[in-house]
Amino acid sequence: MDQQPPAVSRTAESAEEALRHIVEGFQRFRDEVFPQQEALFQTLAHAQTPRAMFITCADSRIVPELITQSAPGDLFVIRNVGNVVPPYGQMMGGVSTAIEYAVMALDVQHIIICGHSDCGAMKAVLNPAELERMPTVKAWLRHAEVARIVVAENCGCADHSTLGILTEENVVAQLDHLRTHPSVASRLASGQLFIHGWVYDIATGTIKAYDAEQGGFRLIGDGPLPMATPRPRYLPR
Ligand code: ZN
Repeated sequence: MDQQPPAVSRTAESAEEALRHIVEGFQRFRDEVFPQQEALFQTLAHAQTPRAMFITCADSRIVPELITQSAPGDLFVIRNVGNVVPPYGQMMGGVSTAIEYAVMALDVQHIIICGHSDCGAMKAVLNPAELERMPTVKAWLRHAEVARIVVAENCGCADHSTLGILTEENVVAQLDHLRTHPSVASRLASGQLFIHGWVYDIATGTIKAYDAEQGGFRLIGDGPLPMATPRPRYLPR
C-alpha cells in the first residue's frame, strides 16, 4: 500500500533471524515475565472483565497496551487494516462479532476506535490506484470511502494536511458505523455505553480525541476528556 521502502530492509534480517527473535522473546516471557506476574495470570485463567474494547489498525507501530499502559485482561482488542467498523448488516464478520460479544457477553462500558498517523490504509484511500493489485484490501476500504468524500467535498485542506484530516474523518465515520450495531445503539440510548474516537501520533506519542459536541479533535490532557458519546434517551432498564 505504501510506495516507500520499509524502514528496515528485508535483506538486513533474514526470515530465520526474524523468527528466532520472536521465539527468544517468548522464552524470556516464559522464564522471566510470567513467573513475576503469575498471580495475575492465575486470576485471568478462567475469566475476563476488560475495561474497554479497543478497535485499532493492524499497523505494527500501534501497541494498544503500551500506549494505554494496560495489563493483560484490561483491553478487548480487535485490529484490522484502517481501524474499520463495517456498518451493521453489511458484513457479519470478525469486527461485528467482536462488538456484539464485547457489549452483550462482556458488558464493556467503553469502545475506543483509534486511528493513527502515517496510516498506510488512509494513504491507500487517498491513492486508490495503488490498490489494483490488492482487491481484498480495496473491497475492505470501501468502508472508509465515506471519509474520503467528506474530506474532498468539505475540506479546503492543502495536500500535506489531507492525510491527517482524512485519518480523523475516518475515525468519525467508523464511530457512525459503530452506532448502527443494535447492541451498541441500544446501550448508547440508555447511557450504559460510551464511545470514543482517538487518533494516535506515532512521532510525538500524543493522542487526540473526538469531541462530538464541538465537532473536532482535541489533545488528551488539555482539560476534560473530549467525548464522542451521544446523549442517552432512556433510563437503563
Ligand atoms: Zn494504519
